[in-house]
Amino acid sequence: MNTKALYTLSSGLYVVGAKASDLYDAQVANTVVQLSSDPKLVSVCINKNNYTHELIEQGGYFSVSVLSQDAPMELIGVFGFHSGREVDKFTMVNPVYTIHGLPVLHEHCLGYLECQVLQSVDAATHTLYIGQLTDAAVYHQGEALTYAYYHEIKKGRSPKNAPTYRAEEDPTVKPAATGSYGKPAATPAVPAQAAADLQRYTCPICGYIYDPAEGDPAHDVPAGTSFTALPADWVCPVCSTYPSLFEAE
Ligand code: FE
Repeated sequence: MNTKALYTLSSGLYVVGAKASDLYDAQVANTVVQLSSDPKLVSVCINKNNYTHELIEQGGYFSVSVLSQDAPMELIGVFGFHSGREVDKFTMVNPVYTIHGLPVLHEHCLGYLECQVLQSVDAATHTLYIGQLTDAAVYHQGEALTYAYYHEIKKGRSPKNAPTYRAEEDPTVKPAATGSYGKPAATPAVPAQAAADLQRYTCPICGYIYDPAEGDPAHDVPAGTSFTALPADWVCPVCSTYPSLFEAE
């Protein structure tokens, strides 16, 4: 059985929100699917450990913000790599609210859905929620962000509690360096200082790779800046982890 067949499935990338009394949370999910058109049913699958799961259980509704392709990694990082139990994600963005008061995004978003949960299905580590559409809006036309674009173009990863987590891409699990046909790779003939300047570092939380060849232009770090020369206040642009925790590749 080649489980990599699962990687060929295509999906979008969404921010799923929930509300219970005056508590709010939202998280990234790529498991939103329209199930039927009459009635308009939509499903989403959420990890049972997530705060959003807790609030959907209590509140009985979920919202779906449809991310646009220009959504920055920082925005995805806020909702994909932090827990609403530890940080108030909505202090970092300006949400708008659906008709039943659920938080949804406006910036970098094509529109939103709001659904009332009709049925919950146990799915091992996750719960599959089936909801009926109760509110929806389109902000503007554009390209929706797909998981493939996030993964291949934005170089994003899935956190461990996502149904699409890929263990072999976990930066904390390093494969042995090998050359052709499994032989040890030859030691590159690069001077030690030059090699250090070009050394790439991986965030242990989200998998973001800092590559000196690219720098971090979105945060005024020009290409050619070695990891050790990063500004003192620089943090992982996806999940805000401190660089001291990064690991050399
Ligand atoms: Fe990170």
